[in-house]
Amino acid sequence: MSAGVGSGAPKKDADRRIGRRALLVGGAAAAVGTGVLARDELAKLWWRMPGVEKARVEGAVDFRGARWLAASTGNFRWADRPDDYGVDMVVIHVTQGSLASAVQVFQDPAHRAAAHYIVGKDGGITQMIRELDVAYHAGNRSYNERSIGIEHEGFVDRPKDFTAAMYAASARLTAGICRRYGIPVDREHIIGHVEVPGTDHTDPGEHWDWDRYLRLVREAQATV
Ligand SMILES: [Zn+2]
Repeated sequence: MSAGVGSGAPKKDADRRIGRRALLVGGAAAAVGTGVLARDELAKLWWRMPGVEKARVEGAVDFRGARWLAASTGNFRWADRPDDYGVDMVVIHVTQGSLASAVQVFQDPAHRAAAHYIVGKDGGITQMIRELDVAYHAGNRSYNERSIGIEHEGFVDRPKDFTAAMYAASARLTAGICRRYGIPVDREHIIGHVEVPGTDHTDPGEHWDWDRYLRLVREAQATV
């Protein structure tokens, strides 16, 4: 399951962005004060500041063939990844419910959690948050900022929910993500929600076949 904004009091996106910008400006000014930073380097820093948002096309998806259903803006934060935050992880989740119920809570602004993608038992892929944005899925701010979250329809204690079609579709999705961001296909970079520091979630659980999944991701990488 997707879980929250992370440790500390959740802050609105605007607060967070202003805070980060102020921090960058303060840091740059301090560096100039000591004569460390050249004028052109300062200009580059300004150029890189948050607020230079990429053009967005309504309904666009990052994985060809995915169905787009927008999550509520309460469940993610606008960002410009990978320019503002590098992406070096995929976090695997299990919904603990149906695809429809996951879609419903991800569209509920009060839920305060959502993943980028949901993979159904039939292998269908629903994208609800763009990869350039930070989804609240890992329950850990820095892991949210650096990762893509993929939910899988089903329950951790029902291995039959993890169908061949689901494994294959999810593996194609993860293979594409790894290619886009140069993420190594291994268990250091493709992790379960249970492995996120500080989480009390157990998904994807003991029935998720990691060996099979990574093999499928590697096979899919040869074709994406
Ligand atoms: Zn989870």
